[in-house]
Amino acid sequence: MLKLMNYVAGEWLGGGSDHRDENPSDHNDEFATYQVANSDNVLQAIAAARAAFPAWSRSSPIARHDLLKRVATEIFTRKEELGAMLAREEGKTIAEGIGEVTRAAQVFEFFSGEVLRIPGERIASVRPGIDIDITREAVGVVGLITPWNFPIAIPAWKIAPALAYGNCVVFKPAELTPASAWALADIIVRAGVPSGVFNLVMGSGSSVGQAIIDSPDIDAVSFTGSVGTGRLVASESTKHMRRFQLEMGGKNPLVVLDDADLTTAVECAVNGAFYSTGQRCTASSRIIVTDQIRGKFIDAVVERLASLKVGDALDATTHIGPVVDSRQLEQDLNYIKLGKQEGATLRFGGELLKQEKRGHYLQPALFTDVSSNMRIAREEIFGPVASVIAAKDYDEALAIANDTEFGLSAGICTTSLKYATHFKRNAEAGMVMVNLPTAGVDFHVPFGGRKGSSFGAREQGRYAVEFYTAVKTAYTAA
Ligand code: ADP
Repeated sequence: MLKLMNYVAGEWLGGGSDHRDENPSDHNDEFATYQVANSDNVLQAIAAARAAFPAWSRSSPIARHDLLKRVATEIFTRKEELGAMLAREEGKTIAEGIGEVTRAAQVFEFFSGEVLRIPGERIASVRPGIDIDITREAVGVVGLITPWNFPIAIPAWKIAPALAYGNCVVFKPAELTPASAWALADIIVRAGVPSGVFNLVMGSGSSVGQAIIDSPDIDAVSFTGSVGTGRLVASESTKHMRRFQLEMGGKNPLVVLDDADLTTAVECAVNGAFYSTGQRCTASSRIIVTDQIRGKFIDAVVERLASLKVGDALDATTHIGPVVDSRQLEQDLNYIKLGKQEGATLRFGGELLKQEKRGHYLQPALFTDVSSNMRIAREEIFGPVASVIAAKDYDEALAIANDTEFGLSAGICTTSLKYATHFKRNAEAGMVMVNLPTAGVDFHVPFGGRKGSSFGAREQGRYAVEFYTAVKTAYTAA
């Protein structure tokens, strides 16, 4: 069995209490235990990061490039093994797990290149004989707090730019998925990260996470998780006058218009709503369908859902893995009950499935006859549960799509250039997808939302430089 330790100030720490890492596909599979960090460990990590910062922030870009490149290479080389571990720990299918691991490698590779392209500008002063240089410097010690649903990709897209631009890292992964985070940390350590520059502290949000956000020595926090915790990160960060970046929930709409290609629309809906067990902040949980296509669209989605296999994430024939844990499963089931109470029709699924192995197996649930004011259409469920909402035409569909406190991703299926263009301009979301699922994004372009979904600078791609660097304007009289 794997025994996972925290990494603080250049040392793997033993001696703490062990917690069990569970396999959601098989409760009898005890594959790892992890050591829980205490608040002293967090303070040590922050102090070590602070001490390492002057040298690391001034290190040669080529040293940082080489480090990130070595990390990328090892992740690529081990993608099958790491993908299987991720599937075992989080419940994504093995194909999805390998896809996520590949993405983590691509992110490290991308930022290894960005290290060599740190931007700056020279601008003429309005005063003669003066030069102005605008440069970017590392921010300092960054606290990175991540969720369980992308246990290696989200850490990668925070850690890689943080290190690339010369910051030191205190990384706290989600308590449900420490093995994926630990595997990444182990690779970063063996790639030769200097002592103190990178620290891993595993444990609960209320102790380890809270100790990070409470510390006045953390210069920036990048957080992905729930709205409630995001608000807490915001208020604590404001207290300390530090920068912060939040990625939180979504209630992403997929609009299907009468002129849509039916096969494309069904694929977008099923993939966007149910793949990765619906546990993506970009999942399409509201499918808004106009009158003429709705009947045949729903029939086709139901037929497709009936053909999907829900099962053990490690079985290569599985399409949809288990729900991550009992707490999330209970939340999904409560929303399914609530949907029925609110008067929606449960058109497919929603029941627990018995399998040979004991796991959290839930048949994907499709509600129809949902109206935009029902709670199942307003609150993030974060499971394989989607709602079909009727709209009479494009204008009504757009209004419903925007009738939400969230604004991460919005999709439309249509063959009309006019509606596609109008939707791209008018959807109140950070990301818009035309004839594509709302989930599934590239690794080299910005990721993020509007309204209640996100706060602060964008993550990923070149845009990550905004969060992980501070701008300096220097004037020189020649
Ligand atoms: P989820 O419901 O998806 O688990 P959370 O917001 O609870 O979302 O968790 C996302 C991350 O935030 C996890 O790493 C979790 O441990 C951390 N977290 C939870 N509570 C706090 C807190 N009070 N302070 C800092 N981090 C926290």
